[in-house]
Amino acid sequence: MRINETFLSIQGESTFAGWPCFFIRTTGCPLRCRWCDTTYSFYEGEERTVDSLVSEALACPVPLVEITGGEPFSSPELPLLVRALLDCGKTVLIETSGALPVPEGLDRRCRLVMDIKPPGSGMSALMKEETFRALRPGDEVKAVVCDRNDFDFFLGFLDRLALPPEIPVTVSPVFGECSPGDLAGWVLSSGRPLRVGVQLHKILFDPARRGV
Ligand code: SF4
Repeated sequence: MRINETFLSIQGESTFAGWPCFFIRTTGCPLRCRWCDTTYSFYEGEERTVDSLVSEALACPVPLVEITGGEPFSSPELPLLVRALLDCGKTVLIETSGALPVPEGLDRRCRLVMDIKPPGSGMSALMKEETFRALRPGDEVKAVVCDRNDFDFFLGFLDRLALPPEIPVTVSPVFGECSPGDLAGWVLSSGRPLRVGVQLHKILFDPARRGV
């Protein structure tokens, strides 16, 4: 499968934020979010076998593996990689844009972290409620918002989804564009059980840096 990069870093945007994590970034994404910080993943990459990726993950002494992108759901070999990692005892997160359906045959012992793309991203028209209906307890939803308009879109979308409480929801400000304090105030006044995130990896490391 075509892989952009692998690296060890700190998980930054889910309930796993703060944990050391081995990242596998797939090549290719059909979206073009305005604030995308991984445009290099659209085309750059090399062919890797599932076996070689699993070996590299096993050589890394952390239990958590995240497959990110790009858009991992664009990779036909994703289910094979996920099953192989799970069978080796890894906890597997998949970060996905919310624009593509969950692939058939995906081993659902993995945990999905599915984005809601708000209007500021330029991609909100691709958000379909039925895509999110495939989420299960253990999965998560997240959003990155740049202003109050984005936050209100996000709340409206959540209302229509009516997710069960076993699916946590994290909302973060666009790094450098939206005040975390403002976002915290919006969350508190909304009265919703939302987690405020801060794109931790961008605070810990140079935002342009790929890993450690
Ligand atoms: S879905 Fe992710 S990788 Fe694709 S354009 Fe948006 S931010 Fe970039």
